[in-house]
Amino acid sequence: MTPVIEAVDVSRSFGESGTEVVAVNHVSLSIGAGELLMLMGPSGSGKTTLLAMLGCILRPSSGHIRVQGKEVSTLSSKELARLRAETIGFVFQGFNLLSALTAWENVALVGDFLARHPQNMHSRSVEILENMGLGHRIYHLPEALSAGEKQRVAFARALVNRPRIILADEPTANLDSENRDRVVSLLRQSVKERDVSIIIATHDERILQAADRVIRIEDGQMTDDRKHGP
Ligand code: ADP
Ligand code: MG
Repeated sequence: MTPVIEAVDVSRSFGESGTEVVAVNHVSLSIGAGELLMLMGPSGSGKTTLLAMLGCILRPSSGHIRVQGKEVSTLSSKELARLRAETIGFVFQGFNLLSALTAWENVALVGDFLARHPQNMHSRSVEILENMGLGHRIYHLPEALSAGEKQRVAFARALVNRPRIILADEPTANLDSENRDRVVSLLRQSVKERDVSIIIATHDERILQAADRVIRIEDGQMTDDRKHGP
């Protein structure tokens, strides 16, 4: 089966040659449908850089990224934007909700960009927020939401276009233990019910038990890749 996303020997450096930082160093990995993968590593190990390359928002210095079998470096920026919007849902570090928009509008925004079924966006957004246990928060602004609720709105937004994969950067970093468990079980549920794949970058060992597979990265290099879970 074609992997959802594949990285082949990707590296990424920042800065000028001589003083450059190698953030990701010759990493290869592929993720299949319905897999929950955790990318573990200490701060500065290259997790965010790797996620950004997998999500096609950052170009590798060398190596290749394939999304659903397509080599992304051959796509025009328009084709890439469409592939990304149709395939990938992002959950950024720190939620990134727009403060002037209500919860459902934050969710609907991404769908409007694709404009496939704009008339359905309200009902789709409401339905997905209800699934996330946020039925009572649909018309609230982000400032009225708790951290856990904001994180769930961010996940609803990532799911609304029915992506094949969700890339989440430290999604539990700002949550208390109750909200952390809730977010993790919502993610597990999405994998099961929607057959979506998820990559979570984290250094939180306490959420590891939810993973199907754990990849460890240190100083930009993959040090371990193993199956996990029941
Ligand atoms: P993590 O997400 O695991 O904390 P990052 O991918 O953010 O790690 O960073 C890996 C390394 O690359 C760090 O040394 C970081 O300082 C460096 N780095 C990341 N992004 C940039 C950038 N835009 N410019 C310069 N250095 C960067
Ligand atoms: Mg990071």
